[in-house]
Amino acid sequence: MLRKKILPIVQLGHPVLRARAKDVTPAELADPKTKQLIEAMRATMLDAPGVGLAAPQIGLGWRLAVIEDRPEHVDGLDPETRAERERAAVPFHVIVNPTVTVEDPEPARFFEGCLSLSGFVAVVARPLGVRVDCLDEKGEPRVIHARGWYARILQHEIDHLNGIVYVDRMETRTFMDGESLEEHWGDIDIDEVRQRHEAERQP
Ligand code: ZN
Repeated sequence: MLRKKILPIVQLGHPVLRARAKDVTPAELADPKTKQLIEAMRATMLDAPGVGLAAPQIGLGWRLAVIEDRPEHVDGLDPETRAERERAAVPFHVIVNPTVTVEDPEPARFFEGCLSLSGFVAVVARPLGVRVDCLDEKGEPRVIHARGWYARILQHEIDHLNGIVYVDRMETRTFMDGESLEEHWGDIDIDEVRQRHEAERQP
């Protein structure tokens, strides 16, 4: 059996993660190599595992990202966590040349990580609802209305296409190693995590 190609994920410090990615042209989108690229990105995202992967993360400065929040990721969460994150499974899809518009500016705050900053997490506030206008992998226009976790994924991936990484938006005092999150903060309400970090700040 042919093993799916897993691509290396570039880490923060690679210049491609700090550049604005370029629009994908219709000719590029129609190229069979792009189809292979999307399949390789899908396999890489699944292998990581992650819920989104933007082309700059595999070293390619194109405005293209793959997204999938698989049922097995979502079903493994307790119902309370699922509800507070407004997290539901999202089928695999591709966004090309996306633009994002805030539809519900109410900030949602959760820990967020990135495959290009492996091992770390921080609390990031993001608008609860967004609209995304983009093309799919066939070049067909698509309009996505997303809330909750899916809106967060879209904003995170589209940030990548603009050279923005979550550390630019995070609450810096909450930046931590992922294992430390599990060990010390995993069961604590996010607002309390934030308050405790702020309370211990030195003047
Ligand atoms: Zn990321």
